[in-house]
Amino acid sequence: MGAPHQLAYIGLGSNLESPIEQVREALNELAMLPLSRLVAASSLYASRPVGPQDQPDFINAVAALETHLSPLALLDQLQALEQQHRRRRQRHWGPRTLDLDLLLYANAAIDTPRLRVPHPHMTARAFVLVPLAEIAPSTHLYQKPLSVWLEHINAQDSNHGLERLASLTIRA
Ligand code: ADP
Ligand code: MG
Repeated sequence: MGAPHQLAYIGLGSNLESPIEQVREALNELAMLPLSRLVAASSLYASRPVGPQDQPDFINAVAALETHLSPLALLDQLQALEQQHRRRRQRHWGPRTLDLDLLLYANAAIDTPRLRVPHPHMTARAFVLVPLAEIAPSTHLYQKPLSVWLEHINAQDSNHGLERLASLTIRA
């Protein structure tokens, strides 16, 4: 028997070149990663960009993956998928065809130049917390339930206009 798998959560974002398709395709690609199994995917959400406002709105989602990959091996895979989507790294927080962030990896706390887990900004981002709550409502971050972090965001009126895209269920 191999080592047990770990549960990882991935944040997906896109605001260029048919973002809805970019995110849907990325979910399919996550489902095909080696040594991994996609176990949940949130609805798609739309939100206004963080940082520069002269760029299109973002489409976001969160996925849950059972994986035997180490955190860094998983990051390698995510970055390879970003490259496949022809991501052009331009300005900080600028537009991108696909952004894949490793949000959580089991209960790991990682703080290295290449990888920080939990993802540093996730406690302040409704477009991460709301889809995460959809697929993993009992998650705690720094010993506090997601609802507490979401209350902070709502109190500051900083949810970036997040909207769930209810009409996007895939038709057979
Ligand atoms: P952002 O997602 O903050 O807009 P990028 O996607 O351009 O920025 O990521 C920049 C760097 O962040 C990457 O080179 C990667 O090594 C690093 N990084 C650190 N922690 C993480 C993480 N948890 N998930 C994804 N990338 C991370
Ligand atoms: Mg990123």
